[in-house]
Amino acid sequence: MSRHMIPYGRQDISQDDINAVVEVLKSDFLTQGPQIPSFELCVSEYVDVKHALAVNSATSALHIACLALGLGRGDYLWTTPVTFVASANCGLYCGAKIDFVDIDPQSYNLCPLALKAKLEQAEQTNTLPKVLVAVHLCGQSCDMKAIHNLSKRFGFHVIEDASHAIGGQYKQKPIGNCEYSDITVFSFHPVKIITTCEGGMAVTNSDKLAERLELFRSHGITRNTDLMTKDSEGAWYYEQIDLGYNYRLTDVQAALGRSQMTRLDEYVNKRHELAERYNQLLRDLPLNCPFQHKDCYSSFHLYVIRLDLDVIDVTHRQVFESLRDNNIMVNLHYIPVHLQPFYENMGFSKGDYPEAEKYYSEAISIPLYPSLSFEDQDFVVNCLKRSLDL
Ligand SMILES: *Cc1c(COP(=O)(O)O)cnc(C)c1O
Repeated sequence: MSRHMIPYGRQDISQDDINAVVEVLKSDFLTQGPQIPSFELCVSEYVDVKHALAVNSATSALHIACLALGLGRGDYLWTTPVTFVASANCGLYCGAKIDFVDIDPQSYNLCPLALKAKLEQAEQTNTLPKVLVAVHLCGQSCDMKAIHNLSKRFGFHVIEDASHAIGGQYKQKPIGNCEYSDITVFSFHPVKIITTCEGGMAVTNSDKLAERLELFRSHGITRNTDLMTKDSEGAWYYEQIDLGYNYRLTDVQAALGRSQMTRLDEYVNKRHELAERYNQLLRDLPLNCPFQHKDCYSSFHLYVIRLDLDVIDVTHRQVFESLRDNNIMVNLHYIPVHLQPFYENMGFSKGDYPEAEKYYSEAISIPLYPSLSFEDQDFVVNCLKRSLDL
């Protein structure tokens, strides 16, 4: 292996980011200081939403979002099978049951038509979901308007899992403004669009939900006298009024996030430039490049190709491994959640979601991140061509 490793995604850390982090380390507060509200305000202004609550991961954000919406035992949470396991696990944390809706073969997002059909069936059997988690795969928004209309007709709540999608837009407005959902969740893991090392955020326009999210983020403890059940006993007094967790982000991480936000648009623009370049370079190959809906401006967290297996003489696995052999750390997003052993043990099995499974048999995430050089990108394309035996 002669060349350096090319990952499928990676963070971009500037000297300004480092300075911002060091400042906090020298300050009075490493956690629960001024950096958290500053980062939250920055994100809420960017996505045009009323409330933002920083937490230690998107997984935590999904969990407290479900709790805030009252998801519990006997309830159903529905999501797409083509996502990271966290989009479904959050329902299990609350004691709810999980079910899936197959994907749209063009966008690879949860299919609104399949959703409508499944809802009509569930209405007959009294198994309608309480919460739907709509995942904006690769950074491209789901058809939120259709999902929102169905949520009104069938009476369920909507969480947008925008772990991939900060910086993206839907109908010319920022993803995260919650126009069509109750709560939106972002991830700041290093492979995502911006990073806080580990971290996430839940945003909402609802005062009530924001209050609940804040409680669950920190042990169910409040210092707000309006929420207390007893009179204050002194300046030290607080009350635990529900069962919450310690899902807080640190000020060190928030400072990094705040600093990264200043380059968010630059990052997304650069991802688009590289994606457009891939579209051109891969145009004549036996594979599908990412479809982009006219209502959507993707953040392009991932660039997923789908191999045309009817045309090529090599297998999906051979192409994948050939790229890995060239030190190109391609990945596959995602193994359908219903095929994970833990979910198979709940009764799901192969054949349940044919579009998701077909996607899984063809998809490869090829490298895409702001600092990917054209030279490395060309190398990826050439290795891909060779692996397809062209
Ligand atoms: C990364 C990711 C998560 C989890 O994010 P963490 O911040 O790592 O907890 C959830 N959902 C999706 C779709 C993701 O890609």
